[in-house]
Amino acid sequence: MSDSHHHHDNASFDQIGEVLRAHSSFVILSHIRPDGDAIGSQLALGHALLAAGKKVRLINEDGLPDNLMFMAGSEKIELPPSTPLEVEVAIALDTATKPRLGEKSLHAASKAKIWLNIDHHISNPRYGDLNRIDPTSPATGQIIYQLITALNLPLPPETRDAIYVAVSTDTGSFQYPSTTAQTYTMAADLINRGLDVGTINSNIYDNYPYRRVELMRALLNTLEVSDNGLVAHWTMIDQLRVDLNLRPEDSEGLIDFIRAIRGVQLAVFFEELPDGKIRVSMRSKDRRLDVCQIASTFGGGGHPLAAGIRMSGPLDEAKTLVLAEIHRRIQASEIESNHL
Ligand code: AMP
Ligand code: MN
Ligand code: MN
Repeated sequence: MSDSHHHHDNASFDQIGEVLRAHSSFVILSHIRPDGDAIGSQLALGHALLAAGKKVRLINEDGLPDNLMFMAGSEKIELPPSTPLEVEVAIALDTATKPRLGEKSLHAASKAKIWLNIDHHISNPRYGDLNRIDPTSPATGQIIYQLITALNLPLPPETRDAIYVAVSTDTGSFQYPSTTAQTYTMAADLINRGLDVGTINSNIYDNYPYRRVELMRALLNTLEVSDNGLVAHWTMIDQLRVDLNLRPEDSEGLIDFIRAIRGVQLAVFFEELPDGKIRVSMRSKDRRLDVCQIASTFGGGGHPLAAGIRMSGPLDEAKTLVLAEIHRRIQASEIESNHL
């Protein structure tokens, strides 16, 4: 039964705690092309459970991205093994739909008899046996913090730092409107527990590879703004990945640069993937322009102000379809065009 619109179907922290207490072996998973919230949430919960004496495996379809290798305890992140793991419980974190865990990861976790699904995507269809979906949370990492503190689980330094990375990266450094007073209270608590703000931010934000800036230069050459000034988009062809020797995480967060253009209400990043599929990233500045709804038209999902799609190509066709849908939504809304 799928009751995706009933908030009260959420498992309580105590119910989740009961599953954690009653079992000894866990596999913790997150979505393909993992971001800071995906890896951060895995490391945060994983190291808390390890410190509580549990057997824990941390699996990601695409492994640990280079830009997050600085995180303490991140060597625990593994690629999926080819034989299913002997674990009792599988925990999916920050993953809007089950297929986004990846086929190999799903196979690795296939022997688990209980599935927990902890996430903050409003579009999550509640595919777990126990689900905790909180769309008011700016990051899955903040739900993990609440869970750990509510259950009095251990909070080792690896967990402390991972929660911070998860929440900082998913809030655009504590800037997006999803950021709440609770987010700052939590950050203050993490600092009180010994987190080094300067070092961790420098590791996240002042340590990009040069090729990322070269990618930015190439993207700027493709930048287009719609006649009404509301929509900015840029495009990455797959050849660019080859020419600049790019890794998937290199494009992470670049869209914020065109989202920040004055007057622009919606930013779109089109990326041609090696398999010919098109990844579409969308960011909105206006609640009346819900990019999660636009994404779901094409089988994607996410949040009202940040969403994504993986669709078939070719690139030009995908762009035409998505941009047409965006302009339809703008016309149906009360948003007024602005002239640059
Ligand atoms: P991104 O633009 O990739 O940073 O994604 C923005 C948000 O939408 C993130 O929270 C993603 O987890 C979510 N998202 C991205 N792509 C998809 C997809 N194909 N299906 C469901 N959710 C997605
Ligand atoms: Mn994520
Ligand atoms: Mn997230």
